[in-house]
Parts: sequence; C-alpha cells; structure tokens
Amino acid sequence: MDYRRCGRSGLLLPAVSLGLWHNFGDGRTPESQRAIVRAALDLGITHFDLADRYGPPLGAAERTFGSIFRLDLRGMRDEIVVTTKGGNPMWDGPYGKGNSRKHLLATLDQSLGRLGLDHVDIYYLHRDDKDTPLEEQAAALDHMVRTGRALYVGVSNFAPDRTAAIAGLLRSLGTPLLVHQPVYSLLRRDIEDELLGVLEREGVGCVVYSPLAQGLLTDRYLAGIPADSRAAEGRFLTADRVTEEVLAFVRQLSEISADRGQSVAQLALAWALRDQRITSVLVGASSPEQLAANAAAVDRLGFTADELTAIERAAKE
Ligand code: NDP
Repeated sequence: MDYRRCGRSGLLLPAVSLGLWHNFGDGRTPESQRAIVRAALDLGITHFDLADRYGPPLGAAERTFGSIFRLDLRGMRDEIVVTTKGGNPMWDGPYGKGNSRKHLLATLDQSLGRLGLDHVDIYYLHRDDKDTPLEEQAAALDHMVRTGRALYVGVSNFAPDRTAAIAGLLRSLGTPLLVHQPVYSLLRRDIEDELLGVLEREGVGCVVYSPLAQGLLTDRYLAGIPADSRAAEGRFLTADRVTEEVLAFVRQLSEISADRGQSVAQLALAWALRDQRITSVLVGASSPEQLAANAAAVDRLGFTADELTAIERAAKE
C-alpha cells in the first residue's frame, strides 16, 4: 500500500481506504463483514470510514465495526484510523439532526458508544447546515478535539466557499481543518473546477468517496445487473443509472485498462489518484476479493499522456 500525506498535516492515509456505508448493516453475515475488515488490514488499508447513519438500521455499521474491533483489532488501535460523521437526521425532535453544537456532541458520544472507542481519529461534518452559524459548527468541532473525542476534524460535501470559510474559522481556533470528503470519479468531476484549488491553498487533504461510482465504473454491469449487486438492491444505486451510455464508456475504459494490465476498477482508482492533491480513494467492497483487487490499483498509478488523452476522449463521447 502507498501512504499519502493528508494535506499539510502530519497524518498519512493509505491511498486506498475502506468505507462501511454499505455491507456492514443488516442483511450480511458477521463472518462476511469480519472477512472484509481483516482483508483490509492484510492489504495495508489502515483507514476505516463510517458515519452515525450507516446501516441499515441507523448506527448498525458503527455497531458492526465495534464488534469486529473487540474481536480482531483491540491490540491495533494505534495502527488504524477510524472516522465517523454526524449532522444527519438520527432521532426525532429538535435536537435529532443538523450541525448545532447540541446535536453534534450528542451524536458523537452515541457513535463512540456504538464503536466502543473513547475517540475517533477524524470527525466529519457530513454536510453543511446553512441554518447553523458556521462559527458554531467550527466551535463544536474544536471542542471535540479539545475534549479528546476526536484527534482531527473534517468536512464532507461542503461547497468551495464554505470550505474556505470554515477552514479559516478552525485555524483561528487552533484546530486546523484536516480533510474534505467530496464525491469524485470519472463520472463526477465537479471538484476539479474549484474545490481542489481551495484545498491546496488551505493545506487540506482530500479523501474522495464513490470513486467507482458505486460500482458503475467496474465490470460488474457489463453483462446485465447481477442479483447480488447494489443496482439490484436499488436503495442508493438504481437500475436506471446503468445506462447504455455508461456501459459504452466502461467498455472503452476496459480497452485502455487491458493495455495497462489492469481491470476497469483499478484504472478508475488509479485515475482518481493521478492528482497528488487526492489523499485517498474511499472504496466500498461487498467481498474481500473486491477489496484486494481495488488495493492492487496502487501497483500501477502513473498514466502516459496518450492514456490520459484516450480517457478524456472516451469521457466526451
Ligand atoms: P465505490 O464507488 O467504491 O462503490 C463500491 C461498490 O462498487 C461495492 O459495494 C461493489 O458493489 C462495487 N465494487 C467495488 N469494487 C469492485 C470491483 N473490484 N469489481 C466490481 N465491483 C466492485 O464506493 P461507495 O459508493 O461504496 O463509497 C465508498 C465509501 O465512501 C462509503 O462506504 C462511505 O464510507 C463513503 N461515502 C461517503 C459519502 C459522504 O456523503 N461523505 C457518500 C457516499 C459514500 P456491489 O455491492 O454491487 O458488489
């Protein structure tokens, strides 16, 4: 595994990280979940990304990770980075959602309870909350660090201008913004316009989610929609997104990736990592085999100018 510095911080993260949004709630066996986490460790994937909401039901992924931690990882707390996020709708009533100090501190404490940990390494605001002053959001994050509940803080899904603003507020409080977590893949390239420039100027790392577009940028759907796939499940990736246009793009990418001795998924991950401002790609995996295949993307990261041109051409068609 390659490890990259997260922005201008002292923290190194693996170039490929594991997210527990899917496959760690109900409907999967504890053995299959444990096997994926153990595979991650064997592959040098030291970074596990969670959120209070991940399940189903809400909180289940944190509970699952907590169980695996007790079984397999207890002696390894200092060798791994565990993150969670908050600000999501979690319970009824006026304090059950949003980025108020009241909700954030409560939901972090509940996350720590489910994880069975006394702190997380990174705590993220899952999304911006325009109804809560940014000063209050920043102060809540600063408080988490000062009280030892989090070592670092990050934001996810924040717009470029709001990212710069909260980075300034956090810097003035003495708790620098470590990382941003936006969506990024060959099918979602918005961060190239502005956000990456802001992160570079502010010295903030960038851990990107859904770099495989939830599985679309793999060979998973080339011969139809498999019964055990995310598109068949239809909760977050619906079958109507498996379009002829996407499949034609993936077929073209397959030809380029074959010449590189890679799978389409490996090419998609290496492509996202071609920019050094990207600290890590955050993948999901429904099996240890998928995760191992994804981790092997780091074996061939560089691209020739011709390969990049061919990818751009395929993207425009
Ligand atoms: P990906 O784009 O990596 O999609 C993962 C899915 O793609 C897998 O579940 C699997 O689907 C399929 N897949 C993965 N590897 C392969 C392979 N080698 N060959 C074929 N198919 C493969 O990422 P996710 O969308 O899962 O997101 C990753 C993480 O990012 C999340 O777990 C979460 O931690 C974070 N995230 C954060 C968000 C935010 O708002 N901050 C939002 C979304 C995600 P299948 O199940 O069909 O096998």
